[in-house]
Amino acid sequence: MSTTTASSPDVAGAAGDLPVVGHWISGAATSGAGQRRGDVYDPATGKVTKHVALADAADVEAAVASATAAFPGWRDTSLARRTAVLFKFRELLDARKPELAAIITAEHGKVLSDALGEVSRGQEVVELACGINHLLKGGFSENASTKIDVYSLRQPLGAVAVISPFNFPAMVPMWFFPIAIAAGNTVVLKSSEKDPSAANFIAQLWKDAGLPDGVFTVLHGDKVAVDGLLTHPGIASVSFVGSTPIARYVYETGTAHGKRVQALGGAKNHMLVLPDADLDLAADAAVNAGFGSAGERCMAVSALLAVDSVADELIAKIKDRVATLRTGDGRRGCDMGPLVTGAHRDKVTGYVDAGVGEGADLVIDGREVVPDGDADGFWLGPTLFDNVTTDMSIYTDEIFGPVLSVLRVSGYDEGLSLINGNRYGNGVAIFTNDGGAARRFRNEVQVGMIGINVPVPVPVAYYSFGGWKQSLFGDTHAHGTEGVHFFTRGKVVTERWLDPSHGGLNLGFPQND
Ligand code: NAD
Repeated sequence: MSTTTASSPDVAGAAGDLPVVGHWISGAATSGAGQRRGDVYDPATGKVTKHVALADAADVEAAVASATAAFPGWRDTSLARRTAVLFKFRELLDARKPELAAIITAEHGKVLSDALGEVSRGQEVVELACGINHLLKGGFSENASTKIDVYSLRQPLGAVAVISPFNFPAMVPMWFFPIAIAAGNTVVLKSSEKDPSAANFIAQLWKDAGLPDGVFTVLHGDKVAVDGLLTHPGIASVSFVGSTPIARYVYETGTAHGKRVQALGGAKNHMLVLPDADLDLAADAAVNAGFGSAGERCMAVSALLAVDSVADELIAKIKDRVATLRTGDGRRGCDMGPLVTGAHRDKVTGYVDAGVGEGADLVIDGREVVPDGDADGFWLGPTLFDNVTTDMSIYTDEIFGPVLSVLRVSGYDEGLSLINGNRYGNGVAIFTNDGGAARRFRNEVQVGMIGINVPVPVPVAYYSFGGWKQSLFGDTHAHGTEGVHFFTRGKVVTERWLDPSHGGLNLGFPQND
């Protein structure tokens, strides 16, 4: 097992001519016991730039053992000391944001400005966690029964697991670990094997901030690592984000093994444009939300429901805007980067082919894009379909790429029933200048996060993030007060201190007087 430290925090060992992204266990990078490796690509060049260690059972054991051993000391560390580390981490993260963004762009492909935005949104949760002392306060009722006081407290769970997807290698883990750590838990992060380096960079920041070794662990890997965490008795809870089939599997397996689980799944987000909407605002929003991060966002808009009377005008405005976009290497100031891997690009392109085959009208063909980047990058330009129907695979499936489908609807009622009939319920947006319609929509739509004239309604950190229906398994959303509840367990203490009036034997059920 080889080990490296500060000078190359995200890299351990070497295999052939490429570095290996190792695990981060007990405060240091390690290539681990397992010999399996995955490829990490630069999506803008199509080249493998690193390998990533894929954990085997012994690595899972080492990660959980380290996190479990660190728990008693960390949970007994005072709130004052814990928050001091949180504040320091926040300062380091803020100062080194450009480096982290560059790491994300190099492995995910999203443009640098988008990567910076991702880190900033994650940082908001760190800032929320800096105030954990307020969030953990319990209640106190003096003299709830005669001479008896009742109060509540919340305590950490233990070693908790966070399992994250490729599309936000920094922000999604930060939805969970700042609150988990601030509340006194220790964390094992299993980040996506497609873009693993951000997690190790963050681990080094924690170390530099003074977090004790073992409180934050990074385990790289695939299904073996995930299954190891889901079934390990040392793991108290699992916070998962990824596709719906895996989210369901994680929820079912984790809860069957006695763990608290929140599993956020896939999405098909709709944007309903009513005839009275500001169509320029709506067109900007559709382009931003449809093609930002190449559509690889769980809050991306992929189904645009345009009321027939304004559909032609809206599509024309979208076409004009897309014509100005530059797809290319995220380090060159482009608007949209490549897709994460060649396999994913081919899958998304397959959906474009299917949409044409199923009879949708291809208004903008992203397959013809001329990228500002290496010819071998994983390119697909913005793609727009019109006259999409609900039976087409480009509507029924989550594509997770820069493909926007326009479905024409007769009005509010048809739009709403289409949205509520969808199996996903992550995010949704309505564009209108009619406050009454917006208010009704807010009340009637079966979706967890709603934007009113806002296309990507990701809640601020002090509210909770999460969808409905098949976009979330479990009942606790991420961050905000729900996050604090997820990472703590409640206790209620009913307390009496002896005084001369204590009352003798009584075998009846306790009643308050
Ligand atoms: P994914 O489901 O393929 O992978 C997510 C995690 O699960 C990764 O860490 C991966 O290693 C692991 N995993 C993959 N296959 C597994 C298996 N068979 N058994 C156990 N673990 C497995 O998702 P992805 O492609 O990395 O990310 C994209 C998906 O994530 C999209 O569906 C997107 O909508 C979703 N997502 C949802 C949200 C949300 O908030 N609801 C946020 C971001 C992404």
